[in-house]
Amino acid sequence: MSFRNLCEECALVKVVLSPSGSRFLRCMKAKQDPAFAKYPPQPVLRCNGYVPGTASEDANGASQPES
Ligand code: SF4
Repeated sequence: MSFRNLCEECALVKVVLSPSGSRFLRCMKAKQDPAFAKYPPQPVLRCNGYVPGTASEDANGASQPES
């Protein structure tokens, strides 16, 4: 059975890479709406805030996770 993780193809997600190589998906919608988790448990199969698009990354493709 296949599924689509909406965060992977959402314009409101930011890919965050830790120094150890772990990869996190940060939901930028959480900044304005507390109903959204900053780091939603993956995979996300349904989301009212989903916006089709491409994930953003820092210029070098990596950044530090923020608490
Ligand atoms: S709005 Fe939804 S689909 Fe988009 S990054 Fe946040 S939790 Fe994921």
